[in-house]
Amino acid sequence: MNEYLTVSLHIPPKMWCDFQKSMVKSRMFNEEVIGFFFCQGHQSKHKIRYIPKTWVVPASDCYEHQSASGLVLKQHFHSYLLENHLQAGLDIVHIHTHAGGGVPDFSHVDDRYESEYAGFISSHFPTQPHLISGVFDENLQFGQFRIWDRTGQRFEPVDFCHSLFDVSNFQEVMNKTDLMFLRQKIFGSANQQLLHQLKVGLIGCGGIGSIFAELLGRLGVKNWVLVDPDKLETVNLNRMPGATKEMVQQQWYKVHYVKHLIQKIYPEDSCVQTIATGIESELSKQEIATCDLIVVATDNHLSRKTAQELALQYMRPLVCLGTHIEVKPDNTPRMYCRITVPPMGGGWCLMCGNIINLQRAALESAPLEMNQMAAGAGYLEGVNDPAVFWLNSICASTGVGVIHGMVSGFLNVDSGIDWIYEFPVNDWRKTNTEYLQTDNCYFCGMNGLEEVVENSDFENSEFENPDLIIW
Ligand SMILES: [Zn+2]
Ligand SMILES: [Zn+2]
Repeated sequence: MNEYLTVSLHIPPKMWCDFQKSMVKSRMFNEEVIGFFFCQGHQSKHKIRYIPKTWVVPASDCYEHQSASGLVLKQHFHSYLLENHLQAGLDIVHIHTHAGGGVPDFSHVDDRYESEYAGFISSHFPTQPHLISGVFDENLQFGQFRIWDRTGQRFEPVDFCHSLFDVSNFQEVMNKTDLMFLRQKIFGSANQQLLHQLKVGLIGCGGIGSIFAELLGRLGVKNWVLVDPDKLETVNLNRMPGATKEMVQQQWYKVHYVKHLIQKIYPEDSCVQTIATGIESELSKQEIATCDLIVVATDNHLSRKTAQELALQYMRPLVCLGTHIEVKPDNTPRMYCRITVPPMGGGWCLMCGNIINLQRAALESAPLEMNQMAAGAGYLEGVNDPAVFWLNSICASTGVGVIHGMVSGFLNVDSGIDWIYEFPVNDWRKTNTEYLQTDNCYFCGMNGLEEVVENSDFENSEFENPDLIIW
């Protein structure tokens, strides 16, 4: 393990909560219990971040022995576990409890078994998975994690995060009162700090994205990755705050214009990275993957699909913003804005929730000539779609409110949200997200896969792994 890298384990809040409940259910009193996550590691500059793909909690009939002072799983259960869940590239997280409260220490027995197990899994599987182990109190409220090297000789501590944002190097540095944020002190100084540390990836810096950046910037967000391939045009000037004819004449990219907005708020301590390509470029994808939050505010379906795929792959919260104006046959306009936050870690997504149209996304990815043909035949939304500042502002403003609620904890987005505002009837509609839940979505189905395994699931099956050690 590289000593300059910090290692973190990031489990989405709802998944952690479901896991805790299953663990507590798998015993009678305060017996020790055990559960597993199978995680994908993602390495960025100074950090390796492990995010779960699946989890498994053995039911009480999977134990050979289970008491308040120790536990032994059935040999068959371990074979079942590794053969069914240890897919290529995944690492194992193993969590067990000790009786009592407070943060427990790993015992000498834990040290010995885990050391053997770490060596065993890395030598028996070609991908040499790592072992991360955790020990918690009996209610799974307090605990600690460590990661073993492949020889099972050494381990390093692992940061554990079970909130939406895995913000690294989170420190309380709010010793001097920043007058700029005095009027929002009521939301808590720790939350203000979190906003300062948050790195937001904004895909689409047009009519909605620019207002959004201005608003979220004023709330306290200083770190940005901006993605948009387009340049400012005169037709944009009806709805982009602070944009000028000079900028259009000088052919400013939209990403540079939004960077300019952020730097006006924070001339000294902002960090804004601009990428003047589409989200499909490798550079965009790489940089968006490092963001704590992904926001997509484009007018096409393909970039939204890509943003959702990245959010699922890297387990990041996603906020999707859009507006739409249409004119009814009697010439009265109907206007909509939509704010969608799919649940982090699966359940439903923009694709299975039909928030975006996959056919359109496919057309948008087609070569240019075909794209133009499709647009001519009315299959694609064009750049000439009607758009007004005030409607975009309702959308961007509500999106920022949702993020403020996610950061401060006054809005629960664990099951996702999908809000649609309609004007002039002045109606907010909230999609019942229970109807959006799907089990077998091609895009989000792999995430959030979970199970409580019972003895009957594996007792009759045959395994070819005779030298598996018993826990
Ligand atoms: Zn133990
Ligand atoms: Zn889905």
